[in-house]
Amino acid sequence: MAKKEMRRPIESGCPDGFQYMHPVMVKNFAQWQWHDHPRPGVLRHVAESGDAIWTVRAGTQRILDVFTLRTLCDIGDEFADGHVRFTIRSNIEYMVDGEEKVNPLIDALESAGFVVGGTANSVAMIAHTQGWLHCDIPGTDASGVVKSMMDELIDEFRNCNMPNRVHITTSCCQINCGGQGDIAINVQHTKPPKINHDLVANVCERPSVVARCPVAAIRPAQVNGKPTLEVDEKKCICCGACYPPCPPMQINDPEHTKLAIWVGGNHSNARSKPSFQKLVASGIPNNPPRWPEATAIVKKILNTYKDDARDWERINDWIDRIGWSRFFELTGLPFTKYHIDHWRGSRKSLNSSTHIRF
Ligand code: SF4
Ligand code: SF4
Repeated sequence: MAKKEMRRPIESGCPDGFQYMHPVMVKNFAQWQWHDHPRPGVLRHVAESGDAIWTVRAGTQRILDVFTLRTLCDIGDEFADGHVRFTIRSNIEYMVDGEEKVNPLIDALESAGFVVGGTANSVAMIAHTQGWLHCDIPGTDASGVVKSMMDELIDEFRNCNMPNRVHITTSCCQINCGGQGDIAINVQHTKPPKINHDLVANVCERPSVVARCPVAAIRPAQVNGKPTLEVDEKKCICCGACYPPCPPMQINDPEHTKLAIWVGGNHSNARSKPSFQKLVASGIPNNPPRWPEATAIVKKILNTYKDDARDWERINDWIDRIGWSRFFELTGLPFTKYHIDHWRGSRKSLNSSTHIRF
């Protein structure tokens, strides 16, 4: 029987966004008529009522210290009606209800060291994962890779010189939170895990580690009379999925953990199916603190796309039109046997459409 006084439910979802929205956005919710792009980093939306709102976008690092946050909020209070929001690519956006407020806001942001841009056909801020800062399994950093690359690509963020929008993502392991991107820089393990047998029995639940392996390469075993695991190295695809539930399955390695670059990923939208990114460069040195080799390849791909794509072609549309062999010719990237996908397990397990199957 239910108690008379039930405890109140604990709500931990996101709060109602309307309370934080600019009053012009609340008043004209779902009544917007058109929008345009007056300059890089600025969008103007005009409502059926005739009201207009300007959005000014600046790039930030994903993980912000409190001093930077206070600076950004002070700028918002002084120059932007006190309303901000963050985009999923770690940009901060300020909304203002008058054109005369736009330039003073941009001046305040730039004089505090922030870069305004990232709209329309620019290179948007790179989406990144946690990296060495606070994840327990990264094989490389995320913030460091993003910082090094954006230092080199900052003019492409500030200006709109690309054929269409470019989304770049990074991912510091092979299996978890990295995303689809026009260009994705992902960790690539090149050898099976090395098992610390002394620790397995103390740390790991062996059945769950066995179950994690997508190719059934892990078996229970005994070493020196202790229960442990063994890996069939011929089957192992070096994905690293066994490492999070069982840290003694050491897969990160300064020499054999490399970076790989994939291109042409795009989420499904109203016009097209999702397109899966494809590997174009592998075995790139994982070379902190500036990752120069990976950055040089990303720049090479971007420059080729900029020179060769037609207006408004995304990277996947451009490659669909010219074909993969022409892509490799134009970028000068070597095509090797490692680019050939001969793993067929994904045919049954991966969705390639938006349909839900049971
Ligand atoms: S991509 Fe992997 S290593 Fe990086 S933060 Fe996500 S789970 Fe951690
Ligand atoms: S690295 Fe991946 S394929 Fe290899 S044993 Fe671990 S889970 Fe299996």
